[in-house]
Amino acid sequence: MTEQLLEIKKDLSKKLKKDRFEHTIGVMYTAASLAMRYGEDIQKALTAGLLHDCGKFCPAKEQIKLCRKKGIELTESELEMPALIHAKLGAYLAEHEYGIKDREILDAITYHTTGCPDMTMLEKIVYIADYIEPNRAEIPGLSEVRRLAFEEIDQAVCRSAESTTRYLRDGGKAVDPMTVRTYNFYKKEK
Ligand code: FE
Ligand code: FE
Repeated sequence: MTEQLLEIKKDLSKKLKKDRFEHTIGVMYTAASLAMRYGEDIQKALTAGLLHDCGKFCPAKEQIKLCRKKGIELTESELEMPALIHAKLGAYLAEHEYGIKDREILDAITYHTTGCPDMTMLEKIVYIADYIEPNRAEIPGLSEVRRLAFEEIDQAVCRSAESTTRYLRDGGKAVDPMTVRTYNFYKKEK
């Protein structure tokens, strides 16, 4: 790991709650493994994985306040589903607080929760790493997505978007339109 990554890791170990930090490290190394598999830049994958949840250093209400203060625009559905806000805020913090200038890394952080149609390989890697990292509790279909992730990543994206949508709907929760668009795009790709 580069000096810069070690410093970011140290900072996050203080700012994030213990399980969030453990999850972060899981995503970082899972993203690196997927980068190895798909010939993507390993340092970029480590960086995006490490920072993907940096926006979760404070509760949702404060995340919204911070977004207002920093001039980060939030969509209707983001305000209804505050769990999504940390992704946008995280990309902002990665750029302005942690000095990450690489657009690809910042976009991978932005889209890690909902995915989006036609993602770059790095975006798919972070999206999937977040879903499959080893600390994730077993849910139906997870082992299949874990296997697919290293075989056909587009199919893994499709499956995880599908089960996220189903999980939210079954729980009577709103589904972000972007997650639906992600699912529809990768369903057609199959
Ligand atoms: Fe997240
Ligand atoms: Fe995460």
